[in-house]
Parts: sequence; C-alpha cells; structure tokens
Amino acid sequence: MQSQSFQCNLCWLPLDTTQRHACTPCLHLYCMECVGKLLEASAGCCNVCSATLTRQNVKAVQVLQPAPKYQLALCGQTPEVIMQAALTAIKCYVQQNDLSGQFRENKLQGRMNTLHAQCSAKLQQVHQAYQKAKSKSAALAAQKASLEQENLELSSKYQQRSSQVAQLKEQVQALTGEAPIKGRSSLGQLSMQVLKTLCSIK
Ligand SMILES: [Zn+2]
Ligand SMILES: [Zn+2]
Repeated sequence: MQSQSFQCNLCWLPLDTTQRHACTPCLHLYCMECVGKLLEASAGCCNVCSATLTRQNVKAVQVLQPAPKYQLALCGQTPEVIMQAALTAIKCYVQQNDLSGQFRENKLQGRMNTLHAQCSAKLQQVHQAYQKAKSKSAALAAQKASLEQENLELSSKYQQRSSQVAQLKEQVQALTGEAPIKGRSSLGQLSMQVLKTLCSIK
C-alpha cells in the first residue's frame, strides 16, 4: 500500500510523520497547534463536523510511516478490539482522504473562479477597446467621404473656371486681331473680366 501523508484539517499543512498530532472523537486529524486553537475557542468544536471537543476526548496520535515495529502495536489485544481498532483507523483514513480531496477541489475551484473573473475583465476591456476603435474608424470613414465629396466639388468648379478662362482668352485674342482701335474699350472690359475670374479661382 502506498504511504501518503495526512493533512491537518484546519491549516491544511501535511502532518509530519515524526511528530504527534491530534485525533478527535469524530476521527478528524489536526496538528497540535490547530487543535490547541480549537480547544481554546469558546465553542470548542471540530472544524470539519462541529463535534464538541474537550481536552479529555481529543487523543494524541502519531501519523506513522509503515514500519515493521508498528505492526506489533495491537499485539496482546483480543480479536474484537483489534477489529474495532482497525475499523476505526480505516474510517479515519477514508475520511482524511475525502477531506484532502475536497480541499484540493475547493482550492482548484477558487483558482478557476479567479481566472474566470480575470478573463471576463480582460475580455470586457478588449471589447471596450474594440468598440472605441470601431466608432473611431466609422468617424474617420465619414470624414474621408466628406473630404472626397469636397474634392469632387472643387475639381468640377476648377474645370468650369478653367474652361471660362480659355473662352475669355480666345475672345481677347479674336478682338486684338480684328479691331485694334474700335475694340479697345471692349478689350479693356474683357481683360478686367479675365482678371476677376482669375482672382476668384484663387
Ligand atoms: Zn494545523
Ligand atoms: Zn469532526
């Protein structure tokens, strides 16, 4: 059979096999320090099952490694007492194993809950950051669309003005070629118009 160290049912530290420990009438094991604390407390009850504990009903025991000399411990007893003692020892062993298992399970559950909470918080953060980035990207896309629209309007205006300037230039050239004296006044007007148009383009 594999040897396995027991744990104190209050501080959950492994019980040193070379030291004496305490066994309660309800068969729960404690280290001496912890059983002292339980006995000093006004309630004086077992941490596991709440059975009443007194200095008289708590027994000092040694959690032992299997060794040939301890196999002689029950020699001289009647078979009834030996069977009763074995049954009590086995009950204690089974109880302690169950309790250790439960303790480990609770510890794992606690760790899992913490991890779960951490993951949820992180996820929440990521989600918020994503929402923020999404709304920012939407705002930027809207800004881009409006800029494109503005650019389109400006280029069509520019084309319009360019064609107007070209027309006016043609008219000026025609007038300067045809009537140098007569056309002078209308030439002046046209020049003014061209200048105005050019200024308005800026
Ligand atoms: Zn303890
Ligand atoms: Zn108990």
